Amino acid sequence: MEKDCVFCKIVSGEIPSTKIYEDENTLAFLDIRPVNPGHTLVIPKEHYRNILDIPEDEWEHVAKTARIVARAVKAGAGAEGVNVSSSHEPSAGQEVFHLHLHIIPRFSSDGLKHWPQGAYKEGEAQMVAEKIKNALP
Ligand code: AMP
Repeated sequence: MEKDCVFCKIVSGEIPSTKIYEDENTLAFLDIRPVNPGHTLVIPKEHYRNILDIPEDEWEHVAKTARIVARAVKAGAGAEGVNVSSSHEPSAGQEVFHLHLHIIPRFSSDGLKHWPQGAYKEGEAQMVAEKIKNALP
C-alpha cells in the first residue's frame, strides 16, 4: 500500500467505491467520472505505478480480469463495443499513479472520436521500428 494513493485507499476500503469485481489480486470499480455509464477501472491490488514497473505475473492477473470485466461491461451496459485503454506517465495522460485499465462501454451513437492519426515519411517507419526493436529485452 502506497501512502496518499487514492486507488490503494479504495483497495483498503478507506475510500468508498462502487465495486464490480474482486479476486485475490485485482479489483474493478466504476470510474467516478464516466465517459459513458458503466465505465469501469481494473487495477492490481498491489501498488504499481504503471505498465513500466508492474511484474509480468501481476500484469497477467490484470489482463485476465480486464477481459472478464470487459465482457460484463459490454453485456451489462448494453453496449455495442468497449474501449480498453490505459495511460502510462503524465505525457500520456496518466493522472492517478496506480496502474489501471479503463473499460469504456461504447455506442455508435456516443459521438466520441478516435485519436488523430498521422503518416510516416519515406524511410521513417523502418528507422523507428529499428530503434524499438533494439530496445527489446
Ligand atoms: P487516468 O490516470 O488519467 O487514466 O485516469 C484516472 C481515472 O481515475 C479518471 O478517469 C478518474 O475519473 C478516476 N478516478 C479518480 N479518483 C477516483 C475514485 N475515487 N473513484 C473512482 N474513480 C476515480
